[in-house]
Amino acid sequence: MTAQGIPTAPITQDVLTIPRKLPEEGRVNLVGLTRDAMRDALIVAGTPEKQAKMRVGQIWQWIYHWGVRDFAAMTNLAKDYRALLAEKFSITLPEIVSRQISADGTRKYLVRIAGGHEVETVYIPEEGRGTLCISSQVGCTLTCTFCHTGTQKLVRNLTAGEIVGQIMLARDDLGEWPQPGAPKDETRLISNIVLMGMGEPLYNFDAVRDAMRIAMDNEGISLSRRRITLSTSGVVPEIARTAEEIGCLLAVSFHATTDAVRDKLVPINKKWNIETLLNALREYPRLSNSERITFEYVMLKDVNDSDADARRLVKLIAGIPAKINLIPFNEWPGAPYQRSSWERIETFADIVHKAGYASPIRTPRGEDIMAACGQLKSATERARKSRAEIAAETGAA
Ligand code: SAH
Ligand code: SF4
Repeated sequence: MTAQGIPTAPITQDVLTIPRKLPEEGRVNLVGLTRDAMRDALIVAGTPEKQAKMRVGQIWQWIYHWGVRDFAAMTNLAKDYRALLAEKFSITLPEIVSRQISADGTRKYLVRIAGGHEVETVYIPEEGRGTLCISSQVGCTLTCTFCHTGTQKLVRNLTAGEIVGQIMLARDDLGEWPQPGAPKDETRLISNIVLMGMGEPLYNFDAVRDAMRIAMDNEGISLSRRRITLSTSGVVPEIARTAEEIGCLLAVSFHATTDAVRDKLVPINKKWNIETLLNALREYPRLSNSERITFEYVMLKDVNDSDADARRLVKLIAGIPAKINLIPFNEWPGAPYQRSSWERIETFADIVHKAGYASPIRTPRGEDIMAACGQLKSATERARKSRAEIAAETGAA
């Protein structure tokens, strides 16, 4: 058992058959609507304008605080109003197709969204806390050469409902909705959210923003903005908006200390190079010592892991309140890289640490179920296309 009482089991895989009602034609899904959008929808459905704001407050609490999915259970609303809601609206989440549990307790959910597409969501239990890693796109338009998701073409952006829905279905699976009358439990199973699953969140900005605003809303899931971290490969024009419109913490997939190497590892670098990216980070509106930027740095053997790289890295980021998260490369079938040796990673961490930066080495979690960073790829897409095939198709070898 882990600290949170989540049983750790050997690897298991089970196919869940939770019947979820699909919204009938014409019914509007309330999950993912902002408060304003929900208000408008209620008015269109016949709610008197004067009452609409109060009704949003009530329905919002049922959905996001109590986790209720059935209008009939919303007992502070009049019976005929509940019937009206049920006729016009649905409360629909994406569907968990399968769940794998790693030997270390990490849970990976394969989640099906409208259109039959699939994304992955990963729950990582830790001492006294737990992190949910959520996806923002099916596949990714970017093609970072060390990332498994990058070998899958972008299929589509997720909607706000599908993004916040991943938090809700994980809460369902972990049994984390509050029980009426029970004392408030301050230790959360899902205490942190990282937008580090499939996709580039800043290429789906509006949906990510709306979903995170719902997750932060005090009358609902109520996660602090400081417990949400958005990871970007470096979409420079959207970086300032992340602070202004979401207010969450920022992580940047840095991964290299020269443009020549970063061009290869993180090809978006050809559009916004290291200098442009660092300038945007220096201007990040919320930047302070308590809200440092996380620089993610994947450790690839003989590619970006030398002492000279470590020294260049600290020089480059001088003046930016930062923490360097070193990620041992997680392998996937056909990956063109190897993980740096443990000794190398520690030496690198030491140089960065001595320069005054926290340099934690991220422990790979859930590797046995391919749930670690950069290993995610829809089962439907897995093994379907190799990078070479994609390159041949796009002519971008
Ligand atoms: N698209 C966003 C967020 C998803 S990736 C981004 O790129 O930032 C989350 C982190 O895992 C990123 O830092 C990514 O570079 C890293 N990553 C991708 N593939 C990896 C792999 N195979 N091993 C270790 N880390 C990887
Ligand atoms: Fe996309 Fe991030 Fe993977 Fe790059 S590392 S391909 S941006 S998911």
